[in-house]
Amino acid sequence: MNIKNAAHEITAVKPNQYPVTGFSEIAFAGRSNVGKSSIINTLVNRKSLARVGSTPGKTRQINFFSVNENFYLVDLPGYGFASVSKEMKASWSNIIETYLYSRKENFLKMVVLLVDIRHSPSKDDITMYQWLKGFGLKTLIIANKADKITRGQINPRINDIRKVLQLDGDEKVIPFSTSNRLGLEQVWAEFDNVLNV
Ligand code: GDP
Repeated sequence: MNIKNAAHEITAVKPNQYPVTGFSEIAFAGRSNVGKSSIINTLVNRKSLARVGSTPGKTRQINFFSVNENFYLVDLPGYGFASVSKEMKASWSNIIETYLYSRKENFLKMVVLLVDIRHSPSKDDITMYQWLKGFGLKTLIIANKADKITRGQINPRINDIRKVLQLDGDEKVIPFSTSNRLGLEQVWAEFDNVLNV
């Protein structure tokens, strides 16, 4: 993908704040700190388009980033902060569910579930994956932070992730690193397929 431009379009909480351009969307789900902001920056070749690190309120917001004035990369609120209250969790799931529900038919082409390659998917990751499948959404698993393990550890870790998420043979898990850009071309190839650009 030739990135001509990328911009933060809008931060939304409610559907009436979502963009109305009609662009296709690819959304990113995953636990807080797994690297959602970093991967969006890496994909569009920008250092700090999607802010990296903890931002107050970020767990309740959806950020839309337009690419080439043609489609959006969508950063969904991260999950898995042990400290959040029940009310916060309910609000989080409500925000995500509302987004998935209102975009799945028309705009949402794929949801990336970003996991940490070093760890087995958490309970929340498994729930999220099953939830996405329940919505009938096309998904892509990306195993981030691959620079933190050796090359020889990559395949065994990918196999573990496949097993824990109970993936079908045709579902891909792409090892990725925002630090050394491993997997970048493979991810764009998957996105190109669903975006038809
Ligand atoms: P988010 O909460 O999912 O948006 O996560 P961030 O993008 O803010 O990243 C959380 C932390 O992980 C930051 O300190 C990043 O620099 C770091 N990080 C993200 N991706 C990678 C990666 O591929 N390799 C390494 N070593 N660190 C990463």
